[in-house]
Amino acid sequence: MKIIVTGGAGFIGSAVIRHIINHTNNEVLNIDKLTYAGNLESLESIADSERYQFSQTDICDRIALDQIFESFQPDAVMHLAAESHVDRSITGSAAFIETNIIGTYHLLEATRHYWNGLNQNRKQAFRFHHISTDEVYGDLEGTDDLFLETTPYAPSSPYSASKASSDHLVRAWHRTYGLPTMITNCSNNYGPYHFPEKLIPLVILNALEGKALPIYGKGDQIRDWLFVEDHARALYKVVTEGVVGETYNIGGHNEKQNIEVVKTICKILDELKPQSNGQAYESLITFVQDRPGHDLRYAIDATKIGHELGWKPKETFDTGIRKTVEWYLNNLEWCRRVQDGSYQRERLGVNA
Ligand code: NAD
Repeated sequence: MKIIVTGGAGFIGSAVIRHIINHTNNEVLNIDKLTYAGNLESLESIADSERYQFSQTDICDRIALDQIFESFQPDAVMHLAAESHVDRSITGSAAFIETNIIGTYHLLEATRHYWNGLNQNRKQAFRFHHISTDEVYGDLEGTDDLFLETTPYAPSSPYSASKASSDHLVRAWHRTYGLPTMITNCSNNYGPYHFPEKLIPLVILNALEGKALPIYGKGDQIRDWLFVEDHARALYKVVTEGVVGETYNIGGHNEKQNIEVVKTICKILDELKPQSNGQAYESLITFVQDRPGHDLRYAIDATKIGHELGWKPKETFDTGIRKTVEWYLNNLEWCRRVQDGSYQRERLGVNA
């Protein structure tokens, strides 16, 4: 297969590309605008593969997309490009509307144009896989319910509202034009190469520098954590074996309060890299004012993808979080280059 992956320089997209190049014989073309969140250094291990290509392209650029589809002749699109950080969507929502909604629209239209020109066999085999989030379902505060594929949408933040919009567009392009689409909605990911503005890498790196570990509100928000490589395997299963028109929820069966997550990281660090002053890392925890509109609980029912496609996560939270902390301890240079901006300056040709 020849697969276009959008957003392949991001956290999950890079895990998907590493998975495809390392574990299959397929070819990948990575389309990424390289915003602050795109880091080609996350793809260094596979960048020399003959089965990997990169194009620095904005998914809002329809002309460029048409040219790419024409020359690459993909069999599938895995669409991960997005603005993804909830806090940024609160302070500046425009980029979220632009990329997540308008960008998805342009990508759908470029795909439809290309797909219409394929012969019958290739047309039938083609897949457009849209990667989305469980945040479109809103908040589960006060219930023991889990998100099902049929749970009504009730997004709370500009980020989740923009992702919900893009899911609706994808469904409409299937229903109206017959485009062979599939959607996955996944819970919170964690693991290697995660941008340090997100909770888990932020806590690990702040702790190592002896800085405060900021926790929103009381830290009682519950998320269902999934190791990113388990997500990458699930996405590959869906694009190759999933049923057209279907939605699959993906989750790790690992509901944890944010405070528990942070305390677990602190304990692992106490063991692997104790502070020189002898104090436990937990002493760095600081509670800060909660994010507006913060959802209290998300939890995924991933029964469908388990039953229908035989996927289940390999990592428990305990094994995955230990691997993650170890990865950060062994890859401080990758972190330093993200934190001091050199991963961006060098590709822009600017001296450090
Ligand atoms: P990320 O922010 O790490 O990466 C996004 C990538 O998209 C970056 O490489 C960025 O350069 C690229 N991009 C942004 N705007 C673009 C544009 N206009 N054109 C082309 N490329 C553009 O995000 P992530 O955490 O890897 O998430 C990937 C996808 O998975 C997103 O669609 C997100 O909504 C979804 N998702 C994420 C999580 C999570 O926990 N991180 C959970 C569920 C679903």
